[in-house]
Amino acid sequence: MRTLVVLTSGGDAPGMNAAIHSVVKIGASKGIDVIGVLRGYDGLIDGLIRPLTRRQEDSIFPEPDIEAIGGLGGTVLGSSRCPRFLDPAMRAVAASNLRAWDAVGLIVIGGNGSIAGAHALATECEIPVVAIPASIDNDIGLTREAIGVDTALNTIVEACDRISDTARSHHRAFIVEVMGRDSGYLAMSAAVATAADAVLLPEQSKSYDEIVESVAACIRRSFSVDRGKNRVLIIKAEGVDIPTHLLVDEVTAEVGRLEVDIRGTVLGHLVRGGNSSFRDRLIAGRFGLVAVDILLGGRTDAMVGWNLTDMGEATTDSFVRVFPIADVLTETQALLDGSSGLAHDRFVRMEKIQGVLAL
Ligand code: ADP
Repeated sequence: MRTLVVLTSGGDAPGMNAAIHSVVKIGASKGIDVIGVLRGYDGLIDGLIRPLTRRQEDSIFPEPDIEAIGGLGGTVLGSSRCPRFLDPAMRAVAASNLRAWDAVGLIVIGGNGSIAGAHALATECEIPVVAIPASIDNDIGLTREAIGVDTALNTIVEACDRISDTARSHHRAFIVEVMGRDSGYLAMSAAVATAADAVLLPEQSKSYDEIVESVAACIRRSFSVDRGKNRVLIIKAEGVDIPTHLLVDEVTAEVGRLEVDIRGTVLGHLVRGGNSSFRDRLIAGRFGLVAVDILLGGRTDAMVGWNLTDMGEATTDSFVRVFPIADVLTETQALLDGSSGLAHDRFVRMEKIQGVLAL
């Protein structure tokens, strides 16, 4: 019997399990066995698999442990960064494994690197592949949102609210660093939601001295006698190239005479974990349905994207559109180098936000 194969790859994101769960349920409902590859592309090369469905008389059901994963953080299949997959010879090994498993196709759940890998496999080895975007960084082209972004933002907001409680009690300034690789999306969105006083984004390309001076100016202004604030919260994106502890030291030296207590917190991997939010489960579930549908319908080298109503190809779900992966990779690059329309819109919003946050 032919099988549907699914894997998770690259940086883990909350909601990946919800996407696996959806793919398994939809596959089973269509009478197809589903198998999972363990540890991303590493497992695809090494042939590490586990069944995700079981047969009972004439029906196919999800394995019992898979029924319970829909809300869990991380990925039960495991993930990896797999430098070997950059080598076409290793991708050929992966493709021959997929043929040996009689795969009707592969669903790759992952970030922009993983999607590039899916494209290579689809184009070089003629393996039907559909990608589901999952990355807390929201740096994937042609989807308004990737799986994991909403949960990560909820975690950041909760952490900043907690930090604000203690900051207000002691009249402190906090610089909170959040993940996001080269994208300031998480930092920008979190800054609005937490009423931060400033946000530092890689997209602004500020010099070291400008960053130190702008943070010092924000703290001086906020803690001036006239302004009378009792908390300063500055959100710093990971992609801003100054270690947070160093920034704290530099700014402390700069505003030293005010005797302000400045602390730094790097949220780091905390933001990746945790049960996925309703929204991430919803997006993952709807991506899974369309991804299986189009793969079984003969589509390959494609990605499902969220909420881009007038772009790509329509599906049975008005919020889910389908895009060729080549277009996704081009748009991802444009998003990261700032040349895409969406990146431009975000940049304009960031500029506006800067002025408002400082009030
Ligand atoms: P993410 O998917 O979260 O962006 P990575 O960028 O680390 O994470 O990519 C995950 C994996 O995808 C890499 O370790 C590699 O195996 C594969 N990959 C990334 N880029 C390519 C590429 N251009 N061609 C083939 N495989 C790639």
